[in-house]
Amino acid sequence: MAVTRTFSIIKPDATRRNITGKVTAMLEAAGLRVVASKRIHMTKEQAEGFYGVHRERPFFNDLVAFMTSGPVVVQVLDGEDAVALNRRVMGATNPANADAGTIRKELAESIEANTVHGSDSEENAAIEIAFFFKDSEIVG
Ligand code: ATP
Ligand code: MG
Repeated sequence: MAVTRTFSIIKPDATRRNITGKVTAMLEAAGLRVVASKRIHMTKEQAEGFYGVHRERPFFNDLVAFMTSGPVVVQVLDGEDAVALNRRVMGATNPANADAGTIRKELAESIEANTVHGSDSEENAAIEIAFFFKDSEIVG
């Protein structure tokens, strides 16, 4: 399996609890390498654009409010089949359904405040990375 790239966000519930290091340690322990990272406070426009695919979902406005409620850490991760590997270590969207040992099972507060985002395909990973990072900010 080749080394590929994915995009991650450590969400406001994690920055609020000061556990971004704990989350990153779990990503690294799973075999992912942080090749870009920055702490930002998303604007409403950025959050609406980033989660645009969910615009029609009933939870969209709450999701945008949550993602702009505090700082986040946006990261680019490299690893063997990085998209799938990251989704495995993240666990299911709803922490109640997540496997033991996953980030969401161990750390998430709720289906909304679920600690991490991870791209769901290599195509979306490339789009999401370009949304937040210049090529020169990614150092593998
Ligand atoms: P993410 O895209 O953040 O990695 P995901 O791919 O597991 O998560 P999606 O279906 O893409 O899940 O939903 C995006 C985000 O919207 C979820 O991570 C969660 O924060 C929020 N969300 C999803 N479903 C619900 C819901 N039923 N109620 C409230 N918030 C939800
Ligand atoms: Mg998703």
